[in-house]
Amino acid sequence: MSGHSNSSVLTRRQLLGMDGSHLVQASVGPAGATALLHADAAQAFAAMREAAQQEGIGLSVASGFRSFDRQLAIWNTKARGERACHDDAGNRLDLASMEAWDAVQAILRFSALPGTSRHHWGSDMDVFDEKAVPCDYRLQLVAEEYAEQGPFHAMHNWLEQRAGEFGFFRPYREDRGGIAPEPWHLSYRPLAEQCENAMSASQWAQQTEAVDLAYKETVMAKLHDIFERFVQIP
Ligand SMILES: [Zn+2]
Repeated sequence: MSGHSNSSVLTRRQLLGMDGSHLVQASVGPAGATALLHADAAQAFAAMREAAQQEGIGLSVASGFRSFDRQLAIWNTKARGERACHDDAGNRLDLASMEAWDAVQAILRFSALPGTSRHHWGSDMDVFDEKAVPCDYRLQLVAEEYAEQGPFHAMHNWLEQRAGEFGFFRPYREDRGGIAPEPWHLSYRPLAEQCENAMSASQWAQQTEAVDLAYKETVMAKLHDIFERFVQIP
């Protein structure tokens, strides 16, 4: 890797996914597939992808940057029951029949509060092994795909051994009671750490004042809890 890691911290709006001007379209998968990433993360990923290729692993990005508006649409459709929200056992939840704070926590287990997703930064990505599945394979991003019998277990092991060399780590590897484990989620530490440090609940509240967010009152009342349990990675 070449050593230009002096990128400045993102602007407030970039941190919240409201501005994607810090991103580049990076080649990260089969047949010219691209993803939006920060240039530093894209460069580090390219080096890691090449090293993985040499060992027969088709390390590819399924999704990189996600905008605030996209995350907001996911949040609101889940909150309104237009998109399924499940519990850990995979049972569909009826959020409308739940206390607001319970409903918010149920959404947060699998979906970030808009403005707090690590996918806003361009440092984070969901990955799979393109060589381990047919090209028409429908990626689900579920734990079984990355577990011992799953198609991406070899990649999972490879990442365990090698991702650190390239500056990557997996923030949601273990269940800490907040966000459910996501073995597919990779984060480029040099950039992500700066973003993490720059995030604040008060900034979030300020920038989202005019946003039409489902459960907004509850979110505002519990904002510090949410940041502690679902945003900050210990
Ligand atoms: Zn992810």
